[in-house]
Amino acid sequence: MPISNPKRYTVTAALIYANGPIHIGHLAGCYVPADIYVRYLRSSGKEVAFISGTDEHGVPITIRAKKEGLTPQQVVDKYYEQIDASFKALGVSFDVYSRTSKPVHHETSREIFRDLYDKKVFVEETTEQYYDETAQQFLADRYIVGTCPVCANPNAYGDQCERCGSTLSPLELKDPRSTLSGSKPVLKATKNWYLPLDKMQPDIEAYVNGHSEWKTNVFGQCQSWLKDGLKPRAMTRDLDWGIKVPVEDTDGKVLYVWFEAPIGYISATKDWLIQKNGSEEGWQKWWQPGKDAAEGETKLVHFIGKDNIVFHCIIFPAMLMAEGNYILADNVPANEFMNLEGDKISTSRNWAVWLHEYLEELPDKQDVLRYVLTANAPETKDSEFTWKDFQTRNNSELVGIYGNFINRAVVLTQKFCDGKVPQRGELQEIDQAALADLAAFPGKIAESMENYRFREALSLIMDLARTGNKYLADTQPWHAIKTDPGRVNTILNIALQISATLSIVSEPVLPFTAAKIQDQLSISGKNWQDAGDADLLAVGQPVLEGKLLFEKIEDSVIEKQVQKLHDAKRLNELEGKTVAPVKAEIQFDDFAKMDIRIATILEAENVPKSKKLLKLLIDIGSEQRTVLSGISEHFKAEEVIGKKVLYLANLAPRKMMGMESHGMILMAEDRDGSLAFMQPGKDVWNGGTVN
Ligand SMILES: [Zn+2]
Repeated sequence: MPISNPKRYTVTAALIYANGPIHIGHLAGCYVPADIYVRYLRSSGKEVAFISGTDEHGVPITIRAKKEGLTPQQVVDKYYEQIDASFKALGVSFDVYSRTSKPVHHETSREIFRDLYDKKVFVEETTEQYYDETAQQFLADRYIVGTCPVCANPNAYGDQCERCGSTLSPLELKDPRSTLSGSKPVLKATKNWYLPLDKMQPDIEAYVNGHSEWKTNVFGQCQSWLKDGLKPRAMTRDLDWGIKVPVEDTDGKVLYVWFEAPIGYISATKDWLIQKNGSEEGWQKWWQPGKDAAEGETKLVHFIGKDNIVFHCIIFPAMLMAEGNYILADNVPANEFMNLEGDKISTSRNWAVWLHEYLEELPDKQDVLRYVLTANAPETKDSEFTWKDFQTRNNSELVGIYGNFINRAVVLTQKFCDGKVPQRGELQEIDQAALADLAAFPGKIAESMENYRFREALSLIMDLARTGNKYLADTQPWHAIKTDPGRVNTILNIALQISATLSIVSEPVLPFTAAKIQDQLSISGKNWQDAGDADLLAVGQPVLEGKLLFEKIEDSVIEKQVQKLHDAKRLNELEGKTVAPVKAEIQFDDFAKMDIRIATILEAENVPKSKKLLKLLIDIGSEQRTVLSGISEHFKAEEVIGKKVLYLANLAPRKMMGMESHGMILMAEDRDGSLAFMQPGKDVWNGGTVN
């Protein structure tokens, strides 16, 4: 059963691997919704700890280190700094952004492991694991790739297939190969400690089934795991990067990253208190409030992407249940994935919008990104980010509706009311209706926020801005000023009260904008309880002119971003290209059979209905010949006329598109697939032979 009225909230956002920068998929999946929720809770006067950090162990770190020619420590230091800075710049308001390489995390993880070990929770098992004889080490799941038994993806990892999402064990892969050496791994015996999830299934089932209020995608994924039957999972690994196993004679073994990473939420809470107070004292109320009944209930909420559901809904709760003293997640509002311009976001293919680059290239547009990622959040199914949609939402929604309303209320107050909040006079029906709407919106928005429906909350926030716009359009203060200035006072008082509430209820999504509005309206320290109040702004309070909240984004800005995406992907593909291996050996006679000579292109035209072919007339010295050449995707007909070329003269004629082609023009293919003519270094005569 969900906790209905907690005393405080422990809200966590996924610990991301410190092996690369943050992209919009991470933000939409987890960090922006988490920040909205936390900002809403704080505004509602709730006690919250907002916890996150980087996961600095695990194989992805070691793989990245190898790729960049750095040590794992250098990799995590580099990316921790970058990730931390870009979250701060986007206004993600963590109370602590910690790291799993900190001593407090190593200690906490080892303590919990040792506790479970002493309670004999683990099952000790010697199994055969894949071992790379060339690299002389056991292969962690991510070091093995092979064919997925479910979808036949040839590049599935030992723990998961990224194409179909199946969770795998290395032994299930067909044709396994080591990513370290490329060789076929062998099986070798090793001892590890397993969490017996199979035996724990009834308890886990009771826990999950007690939360039928979870999002359908989350609850459904848990059910499918449970239905398949849980299997024991190793909580230690044969690897040299990570937290040493706190048991004797375990050299070369570390704690499984998915054992210790979620413990990172607990150790980050301690780290927060250490940074704040110099001691971890008081951490228990966030994780073990039951120890002291007077402390009241704590609600634990994990924000994650859908690829982490099993770890947060099954494995981590199972660990904590076995330990016995911890609260379990009350909710895990995982999002689905956000795609980008018609394709899956992919770090390896460099198909992503990177946060640190966005912040640099589109400065002061943090709220635009937060807005677009929320309006289009993959809450119930995958969604898609396009730059065109980004532009439209900015120009027609943020500029056209939200910014327009606030700007009109402020500017008209400057113009007609001396830049001070005017006094309301007698209310007409239309005024009463506007005030009734104003009073009702915050409650509706809060309900959406409480239920993790941030898209819906944002859509209600925009409805409130629309209500304000419509009110101004219907009451027309710019006309009323000529006949009835008292009426204008009433209208602008109401418009300003709506603006003030709008700033409060939109603060979780648009914190930078809300702060600007509150500066303009000279309010501070107001929070959710004040929202909807018809007298939130006192009469006579100054209303200051400000810069426009949002500005239009031009086509050129968007085109540049789209081009950049494609360029980055292409560059990435080129980097992955390798030179073709040399073909099988031939004899001189084989070569001598080829009659290669110099020719000049005299005429060229497109072949109707063919995408690739140009019809060329060439002079080969002794005669003129017609050649059909597959180069029209690379060259226009008029570009090639007059070119001297290398020509294979004695190739048997071929029929194409109903025409006969004689011989072949020789071209060089560049790394990116583009073509170049092979031309002699001096003006050799037509028919000159190539030997
Ligand atoms: Zn698969």
